[in-house]
Amino acid sequence: MGKALIIGAGGVSNVVVHKCCQNPEVFEEIMIASRTKSKCDAMKEKLDGGKTIIHTAQVDADDTDALIALIKDFKPEMVINVALPYQDLTIMDACLATGVHYLDTANYEPPEIPKFEYKWQWAYKEHFEKAGLTAILGCGFDPGVTGVFSAYAMKHYFDEIHYIDILDANGGDHGYPFATNFNPEINIREITANGRYWEQGEWIETEPLAIKRVFDFDGIGEKDAYLLYHEELESLALNIKGIKRIRFFMTFSQQYITHLNVLQNVGMTSIEPIAFEGKSIQPLHFLKAVLPDPATLGPRTKGKTNIGCICQGVKDGKPVTYYVYNMCDHEACYKEVGSQAISYTTGVPAMIGAKLLMEGKWKKPGVYNVEEFDPDPFMDELNKQGLPWHENFNPVLLD
Ligand code: NDP
Repeated sequence: MGKALIIGAGGVSNVVVHKCCQNPEVFEEIMIASRTKSKCDAMKEKLDGGKTIIHTAQVDADDTDALIALIKDFKPEMVINVALPYQDLTIMDACLATGVHYLDTANYEPPEIPKFEYKWQWAYKEHFEKAGLTAILGCGFDPGVTGVFSAYAMKHYFDEIHYIDILDANGGDHGYPFATNFNPEINIREITANGRYWEQGEWIETEPLAIKRVFDFDGIGEKDAYLLYHEELESLALNIKGIKRIRFFMTFSQQYITHLNVLQNVGMTSIEPIAFEGKSIQPLHFLKAVLPDPATLGPRTKGKTNIGCICQGVKDGKPVTYYVYNMCDHEACYKEVGSQAISYTTGVPAMIGAKLLMEGKWKKPGVYNVEEFDPDPFMDELNKQGLPWHENFNPVLLD
């Protein structure tokens, strides 16, 4: 069917590339382009020989002109951005300049301001509309599948959803005292930020990790889950009809929290540059360099993830409660694609969003979050592409 340019060559990219190669009728040719070309070449070497033709290239995705040149040379239908959130706008600019569709898994965050918000990317809506191009934002698992789950619940089971609790549990154990499951910089910045949730039209802010609930997750068991701000809350609060409250909870072990507290107390999670041996460095960048590379956690990680949405609302005047979730096994993911479940649960939805865009099922000019598309083809693909989901119409609720 066509060509896709995949930018980034980390854990998520590895999954996207594997999954594109499993769908060669859609992804006839792909190019993996990233800052470090050797990582792209290593992926190509692993997967070459199948039906999908794989190219690689070096690119600095902060440089719009370099991206434009690369896109003009390869001529893809779309770009799948699985680099870092800092590159979202330069890549969107390059897509607009070259007439190419866009998809990412994380919303833009200015490198100097630790605050992710959709406002910068939503500002591109008119440009994409006028150019007749589609931009799909936040098409990983959370954000991503959590938005699709909410849209699916809304379409099939509710007239109005009043409450959504998104629950993200990782029951995986990699055997290290402390490591982050994906990019440490993004992960730590997310967790050390204030908590925030949306209620009755207002954002309520809490101290970091101040609200805790215990939940019994299918396939994992009881876990402490902490309220965090997560980017899909911003778009779901706007896009889900009748919503009164939406919250996001993620599980962390006591050991993880203790390490994080110590790192924070000694200043290692700060992004304020400090002078060190004649150089200016950000402590968080240095911390990233000493922590285990998330890409190496795959072979060590055992256990499951469980991510889903509990929705409460009304249908035909009657109260309805609905829980939809996916469980993903770290070891099975590693066996299939050589990555753990965190990368897998992000990369598979990114490929599905790209597939639906390439097939024209999720194509509409403008900039959209995933819940603004028809959830049905995406839900079908989740079952086919390795992330089957489960439904429970009588779940235990969080208070
Ligand atoms: P990694 O850090 O493993 O990979 C990021 C890749 O991007 C690396 O290959 C890196 O290059 C490359 N890169 C960084 N800067 C540039 C640049 N300027 N130009 C070109 N390439 C660049 O991250 P992950 O794979 O774990 O995550 C990828 C994305 O997925 C992130 O945006 C993350 O926030 C998002 N994510 C989304 C989730 C969701 O559910 N929605 C969950 C998890 C992650 P190099 O190899 O040289 O460092």
